[in-house]
Amino acid sequence: QDKPIHLDRFPIAQVNRSLQAWDATDEYLLSYCQEQEYLVGKKNILIVNDSFGAIACNLTKHKIYCVSDSYLSHQGCRYNIEQNNLADDTISYLDSLSELPESINLILYRIPKSRALLSHQLAQIAGQYGETTKFIAGARAKDIHSSTLKVFEHFLGETQTSLAVKKSRLVFSLLSKPAQQTLTSNISWPLERTKFNISNHAGVFSRESLDIGARFFLQHLPKVKPEQTVIDLGCGNGVIGLSVLANQAGANLIFKDESYMAIASTHDNISENLPNLLAQCRFEADDCLTNETNSSADLILCNPPFHQQHATTDHIAWQMFNDSKRVLKSGGELRIIGNRQLGYHIKLKRIFGNCTTIASNKKFVVLSSIKS
Ligand code: SAM
Repeated sequence: QDKPIHLDRFPIAQVNRSLQAWDATDEYLLSYCQEQEYLVGKKNILIVNDSFGAIACNLTKHKIYCVSDSYLSHQGCRYNIEQNNLADDTISYLDSLSELPESINLILYRIPKSRALLSHQLAQIAGQYGETTKFIAGARAKDIHSSTLKVFEHFLGETQTSLAVKKSRLVFSLLSKPAQQTLTSNISWPLERTKFNISNHAGVFSRESLDIGARFFLQHLPKVKPEQTVIDLGCGNGVIGLSVLANQAGANLIFKDESYMAIASTHDNISENLPNLLAQCRFEADDCLTNETNSSADLILCNPPFHQQHATTDHIAWQMFNDSKRVLKSGGELRIIGNRQLGYHIKLKRIFGNCTTIASNKKFVVLSSIKS
């Protein structure tokens, strides 16, 4: 790229502004491609799991496809492309359940934290491309174990690694395996004390069993009246909203998550378990409640995240609580679950002016705030 690029994490109003929007792995992937002259001429490039567009912003002279399970990453990429006045007509955004494009010259792959998502994405890549496509992955050296490399060998073929540079390492695989692997990334389990079966795509939070926080939260949900609008914020596989509907078939449910696979799993779980109530539900990838109108909800239920990719941060919880205050009707309730030590009651009190403890155990508290 000719001009220096300025990159921001997304959303930009994060409290911890010291976290960068790119890292040494992005730099290593790009410099390696340049050294090897992989970027000469106009190429079709598949970029997988780019955090906030650091890779994409440097490759806009090519036709690029950005694959991610994260709505926030896609928004971050769009934002950084726009801020740097870069051409966006060469970029296509694909979620991690979409079919991959044909004829790709180069794949740049950021290795995700989740082994399930890694397997899902590599199986997808193996199913679509062969040896004429170059494949380079990268991550922090400490996150690449011999078991990680076995996953690459299993799905893709012969795999080698680079030397570590600034604590990052690259992984090179030949796409030589035939596409024999079926995509078996969905996991299902029965939801305790119900007749429901919960299915989970690869990228979903706590996909292998019910989260212990969610289990405690389910025991302390408020009574919902018919016709009330309830938001399951950060819905994951949708267990919270599903349980609300099971107890109040007259409620209207909105499910929000920034993971496309979470939204897809929630949709599957309502369709399978309460098909008659599907029409009362809306499923939407969003950054917290950014796309939701003011004063529109009666109740918001939330088990907030405390990670964004590799960074531990509470800015998402802050944003979720602030958005909830805006989106709740007057008299509406935000009910959340959190680890005791996270001090969410202080935040809620500051935002809403009130906060009641509904229940607590050794690990968790269930808190409620009412919009005045
Ligand atoms: N509600 C589910 C449960 O209780 O099992 C999942 C809770 S999990 C602790 C938090 C969820 O918030 C994850 O599914 C994550 O993808 C989602 N999330 C993270 N950042 C988000 C954001 N900015 N906007 C919406 N959802 C987000």
